[in-house]
Order: sequence, then C-alpha cells, then structure tokens
Amino acid sequence: MKKDKKEHALNFETPFQYAPAPESTAPVKLKERYALFIDGKFQAPSKGIYLPSINPATEETLALVAVADESDVNKAVKAAANAYKGVWGKLPGKERAKYIYRIARILQERAREFAILETMNGGKPIRESRDIDIPLAAAHFFYYAGWADKLDYAFPGRKAQALGVAGQIIPWNFPLLMAAWKIAPALATGNTVVLKPAETTPLTALLLAELIQEADLPPGVVNIITGAGETGAAIVRHPLVNKIAFTGSTEVGKLIQRSLAGTDKRYTLELGGKAANIIFEDAALDQAVEGIINAIFFNQGHVCCAGSRLFVQESVADQVMRKLRDRMSTLRIGDPLDKNTDIGAINSKEQLQKIQGLVKKGIAEGGDMYQADCSIPKKGFWFKPTLFTGVSASSTIVKEEIFGPVLSIQTFRTADEVIEKANNTPYGLSGGVWTDKGSKIFKVSKQLKAGVVWANTYNKFDPTSPFGGYKESGLGREGGLHGLAPYVHLV
Ligand code: NAP
Ligand code: MG
Repeated sequence: MKKDKKEHALNFETPFQYAPAPESTAPVKLKERYALFIDGKFQAPSKGIYLPSINPATEETLALVAVADESDVNKAVKAAANAYKGVWGKLPGKERAKYIYRIARILQERAREFAILETMNGGKPIRESRDIDIPLAAAHFFYYAGWADKLDYAFPGRKAQALGVAGQIIPWNFPLLMAAWKIAPALATGNTVVLKPAETTPLTALLLAELIQEADLPPGVVNIITGAGETGAAIVRHPLVNKIAFTGSTEVGKLIQRSLAGTDKRYTLELGGKAANIIFEDAALDQAVEGIINAIFFNQGHVCCAGSRLFVQESVADQVMRKLRDRMSTLRIGDPLDKNTDIGAINSKEQLQKIQGLVKKGIAEGGDMYQADCSIPKKGFWFKPTLFTGVSASSTIVKEEIFGPVLSIQTFRTADEVIEKANNTPYGLSGGVWTDKGSKIFKVSKQLKAGVVWANTYNKFDPTSPFGGYKESGLGREGGLHGLAPYVHLV
C-alpha cells in the first residue's frame, strides 16, 4: 500500500503516461474523388485532372481532388454572376438569413464529422478542430445571418448594395474557418461566391459544398472550386468578379494587388505576420507562460497572428525561460486524432522543409536552439516545439515568418524600448501584452502597430470582433460589423 502511494505521488521528472484516446474516423465518409462544385452540382473538371489530397500525419491519400483550369473558373464565375442576377441579388435580407442560419445549424449538427475530417486533412489536433475551428466557423455563419436583414442599421442613413460576385481564396491553416470567414459576410450582404480552398486542404470545403446542397441554397450562389495557385490567379483575373477576398502569404498578396491594379475590383488582403508577444516583469508569470505556449504552438504555429517574437523583461527572463522549458516538456506531440495530443502534424512536406531551412539558418547565424525532448512518429511531417535565444532584430528567424512551432526570444528593459523593438517589422497583424498594470496595457497596445492586440491572453477569436492587419500584413478587416463593409457599395 505504502509503495503504491509513493508511486502515485506527483513526479515531475517523468511525465504522465496517457493511454491512447483516438477519435474514431467512422463519421467521415470520404468519396474516392471530388469534382468541382459549380452551379449547385458537382461537375468534372474540363481537363479531367485530379490530384491526391493526403493526411500529413500518415502520408496516406485520402481522396482525389479536381484541378480547375481557366475554363472551369469561367464556368464557376458565370454561375455565380447568373445566381446574383437571377435570384440572390433580389432576395430580401430576411430570406437570405434563413439560408445562412440553415448552413450554421447543419454545420453544428455535423460538427463531429467536420472536425475529424479537418484533422485528417490538415494535421491539426482534434482538440483544436473540435473545440475551436468548427464551432467558430458555425458561429460566423450565425453571426452574419443575423446581419442579413439589418444592413440599414449597420450603415445608418446609407443604403448598402451588394457588389456582385466575390472571388475568395483561402490558405491551409484554418481551412473551414477561413471559408466561413469569407462566405458568411458575402452571403449576408447579398453577394454570390466563388471560393478556392488551398491545394493541401480542400476536403472540409468540399464537405461544406455538400452541406450547402443539403441547405438547398439556390444553384450558383456558392461555388467551390479546387486547384493550385494558377486556379486562384484565374479567379483574380476574371472580368466578372467584382471583389477579391484573399487570405494567404504576403508574397502572393502582392502578386494579387499587382494584378488588380487599374481594375475597379474591390479587394481585402489578410496576409502574413510576425507578432510580438511582450511579457512584463509584473505579469502573472504562470499565466503568461501558458499564453506564450498558446501563442506559438497552437496549430503547430501555422497561425498568421502567432506570437512568434517573444520579448521578456530582463529581470524575469531566467524565470520565464525555466518555466517555459518545463511547460514544453509536458506537450504531447503525435497522432492528431488522439484527444490528448497538443501538437499535431506539419501541414505539408513543403512547409516542413521551409521550417527546417529557417531553423538551420537560425543556428548558422549564431542562435541558441532548444527543443522539447519528445519523440515524433516515423511517418508523416513533424517538427518539435523549438525555442531560440541569442537572436537579434537582424536574425533571419526574427525577421521572417516561419509559420511553424518556432519561437525567437529577446529581452528588454523598458516599455519604450520594447515598443520600438516590437514595431521593428514590416508586418502589423497582431501582438500580445502581459502585465498586471492596466495603464501599461493601454500605453503599449496603443503604440503597437498591429491590427489586433491581446492583453493577458492570446489567440482569442470571436465573430463580432474585427481582424486584419497594417503594413505588409494586408488591408481591410474581416469579422464584426467591419467585415460587412468590404462587401457593399454604400449609396
Ligand atoms: P499562399 O501560398 O499565399 O496561398 C494562399 C492561397 O492562395 C492558396 O489557396 C493558394 O493556392 C492561393 N494562391 C497561390 N498562388 C496564387 C496566385 N498567384 N494567385 C491567386 N491565388 C494564389 O499562403 P499559404 O502558404 O497557403 O498560407 C500561409 C500564409 O497565409 C501565411 O503567410 C499566413 O500568415 C497567411 N495567413 C494570413 C491570415 C490573416 O488573416 N492575415 C490568416 C491565415 C493565414 P495553393 O494552396 O494551391 O498554393
Ligand atoms: Mg502556398
């Protein structure tokens, strides 16, 4: 008895062993191949090309997915233009709302299926897709459904008119959530949609296409077409597209801006980031350490607003580093479908190579690397949670967006110094401030040139709250009342 008691005492030397808790994949019924969702029907791509979409945690092929070329894009845009002229543009807001509410409700009903598929196709832990991605996607549809018949209150004294066809291009890090961010406000304001998901993560968008059929949306109101960058470029170029909503890299954002120059298309760009997460000595340090972990390791660091540049006040730097390493040793990396997994797979081989290359550069430039001591699966794409100290503002890994679980750490002495360091970046998407003093929160957050600043928390999202960047992080806002404006003409 006595011995037993001792064995069960808290022992921080050896981490707890968790029994496997895998989520079943039974609710997901994958088709062998997915065609393009155009005009309310699944239609084969004109050239008949399909490419495999894989599970990055196992490298297994999940399904074959169509590649849309210019003529398919043309078909989808025409379907959207006809649906706008024929039905959707004429429907009163309260009728549009019914459809959007229906999408939201079915998404809630089928949440488990969507969460499992999101994890299988993207590699993110089931805990995140189940508790964050899918519920937030449904919340966006609910929220914007509520605005559909209240646009006169959103823009008092003005009349909001739809633009027509919205071309929407999204990345692979939050596949369904980004689709919801784009589709919900477009439909609420009376526009029709042609959406292209990312090449590596098309499957939940295609399941959403099935859901949209089930919700009985008029054909052509939402079209979902798959393919690579070239498909996205064809959407951007198409003369019948009235608005482009793009989320992705700054590099592609610049290409799109160039191709839109001189046209009367409206556009919003949600691009990259390199956020400063700032810890003052008077912060609740244990909470701040949780915040640091969440800011950089959530979704394997594939987060545009990730707190990838940590600034710790010098007086508490050693203490924070110690706590951070301890906390990192408890993170579980592995099977994304296991309910106990904290860190899943890197989204693609290409992205893994990008992370590896930048980390190598970080070491070559003299940074000190620390990695959590954990084992990683043999198959699939994985990267251990990583910290860098001994870096400065000129280090490549401090300047460039890594989009992986890699944190660079610098210290500071005064608030003015850290504000200057935090703003020393071409990006301006997000930031975090940790302190016990409300006045310091206001001082710092007011001066950070970032679209979103979290105080004593990080990565909090809500459909009512606008999101977007300054400088090379893009332009325009999504979410909240602000997210309606880019989809309307005000007269
Ligand atoms: P990406 O390479 O820019 O791709 C984004 C989307 O654009 C994908 O669907 C992509 O298709 C498509 N695309 C590629 N080239 C194109 C072109 N020439 N014309 C039109 N579309 C094109 O970005 P990513 O690697 O998927 O995503 C990571 C980036 O997204 C990061 O920089 C991250 O910070 C940013 N991001 C920003 C936000 C935000 O709200 N600010 C949110 C999430 C992510 P393929 O998939 O086939 O390449
Ligand atoms: Mg890409």
